[in-house]
Amino acid sequence: MASPGIFFKPQAPLDEADVSIIGFPWDGTVSNRPGARFGPEAIRSATLGIEDYSPYQNRDMARLAVHDAGDPEFPFGDTAACLAMIREEYMRLSPKKVAALGGEHLVAWPLVRVMHERYGDALFVIQFDAHADLREHYLGVRESHATIMHLVADLVGRENTASVGIRSGTAEEWAILRNHPRYYGGAAGLPLAAFSELGRGLLANRKVYLTIDVDVFDPSVMPGTGTPEPGGMFFPEVVRLLQSLEGVDIVGADIVELAPDYDHSGISSALAGTVLREVLLLMAGKD
Ligand code: MN
Ligand code: MN
Repeated sequence: MASPGIFFKPQAPLDEADVSIIGFPWDGTVSNRPGARFGPEAIRSATLGIEDYSPYQNRDMARLAVHDAGDPEFPFGDTAACLAMIREEYMRLSPKKVAALGGEHLVAWPLVRVMHERYGDALFVIQFDAHADLREHYLGVRESHATIMHLVADLVGRENTASVGIRSGTAEEWAILRNHPRYYGGAAGLPLAAFSELGRGLLANRKVYLTIDVDVFDPSVMPGTGTPEPGGMFFPEVVRLLQSLEGVDIVGADIVELAPDYDHSGISSALAGTVLREVLLLMAGKD
């Protein structure tokens, strides 16, 4: 018997899909507690227990055609080769809107680069995260899950990024954050209500890429992540921010850093799966 697809959906061919999904089970630069490589499998299986219908958006997964491209098999230990594989897979899929399942946060780097090649100055990147991820180098390495937003800001310009929920970083990272025009929530950010205005204003004519590091959530509801940080966000707040992006052209998204081995009750995977449902419905924008 074939195993059930994500959200119990039958597999749609790529060319007929409204949205597609791919897993990147790679955590090659994780320094603290590894295990994000098991994220895609845990999210897929959690979706089997999650309702198709979103009461927040009044939309139903049942009406979406979803292509699940599965997970590539990575040559662990060779970061450059893994990033090249991620890029290649994403190039193949991303004429359609794709939600990528990490894996660690560095998987977002080749994805943002592909989107930037395609959309240029129209691209705007929104990060949900506990951590600034603004280091220039981490442990001597330039491409790391701790440097992802530095890489992104270098590519697209910091003014074309927004960060939500940050509450951990070095003194140097905080110096940047304190001058960041669009840093919301977290330990010292602008009010979340100000984020909600982005969708109706600045982002109306932009192409938006959404990168969601699950450690943005409070560890009490998201224990399953490598670097938990106290003082995090809760689902109702995050879902309200996502709702405020209604009508915005979200061209790509990822959900990263879920490490299910630290999630003994399964609540983290259930939360990540529910966020995935909201993101897919928002990206597809289909009533
Ligand atoms: Mn993080
Ligand atoms: Mn991160």
